[in-house]
Amino acid sequence: MAAKIIDGKSIAQEIREKIKKEVEELKEKYDIVPGLVTILVGYDPASISYVKGKQKIAQALGFYSVEERLPENVSEDELIKLIDKYNKDLKIHGILVQLPLPKSINERRVINAIDPRKDVDGFHPINVGKMIIGEPCFLPCTPYGILVILEKIGCQVEGAEAVVVGRSNIVGKPIANLLMQKRKTVGNATVTICHTRTKDLAFHTKRADILIVAVGKPKFITADMVKEGAIVIDVGVNRIGTTPEGKAILCGDVDFDAVKEKVSAITPVPGGVGPMTITMLMKNTLEAAKMWNGLPNEVE
Ligand code: NAP
Repeated sequence: MAAKIIDGKSIAQEIREKIKKEVEELKEKYDIVPGLVTILVGYDPASISYVKGKQKIAQALGFYSVEERLPENVSEDELIKLIDKYNKDLKIHGILVQLPLPKSINERRVINAIDPRKDVDGFHPINVGKMIIGEPCFLPCTPYGILVILEKIGCQVEGAEAVVVGRSNIVGKPIANLLMQKRKTVGNATVTICHTRTKDLAFHTKRADILIVAVGKPKFITADMVKEGAIVIDVGVNRIGTTPEGKAILCGDVDFDAVKEKVSAITPVPGGVGPMTITMLMKNTLEAAKMWNGLPNEVE
């Protein structure tokens, strides 16, 4: 069976068009412009490229966008002072601190310094707590994007065996939690989470109707590890080389060419989950702008 290749780019594009329209309406009717600040510390090339992408899309959607760049050796206190400035800035509705931060900075302390009502990445403990108990909140962007993909392709999540490989705070743990939420659309799955201490990984992955992989190892999931007809969401982004023009060559955590012959649907890398992550960041910022201006929204 040849799989449906899930076109994350076009799903993302469709959502961005809706966001753009809503931004125009907000401006016209209420003179509100969603504002996003991105804060980048250091010179990691992948982080620079992610922030550039976020800025470009924010501008294309008509947002007010501010880019802050701090040197690698900035102190934790200086960074927190900057966050505090934007916590108070009425033109800014979303604050994004690009992770990872340099080792000298306590990431937790920095995330906790963001006003939870501007935490458009959904990493603040208040938003994580709300997500777990099923209250409206900012959902973390990658898991949020995966939910939208599953909904768009009409995946039967209720009652499905969902297996998540990876338990990071930004992908594995939240997506596992979201899939098991008592919710008719994209919820009610039976979820298994796997990690480095899982005894027989293939035993679990082979049982999965929905397999979500966020490990960070190129082509880690091979065809013999997946069930015929499964839906596979590959979150991994691995840089495996550079083109002669100097562009990064990317591949996912799943052996795409072999696995696509066996499953019913699969996300490619690039062009699968990645574009959705950025799009859901814009969606969260739009909802934040509505919330801060007392309009109906999806995050409170
Ligand atoms: P992470 O924090 O490094 O976590 C990796 C997880 O994989 C850990 O829980 C680890 O288990 C598990 N793992 C590693 N080796 C394993 C093995 N041999 N067997 C079973 N589990 C194993 O990674 P992350 O931040 O979630 O990111 C994962 C990948 O997704 C990366 O490639 C990242 O670049 C990509 N990513 C993409 C997007 C996007 O928008 N497309 C967004 C975020 C991340 P332990 O906990 O036991 O160590």
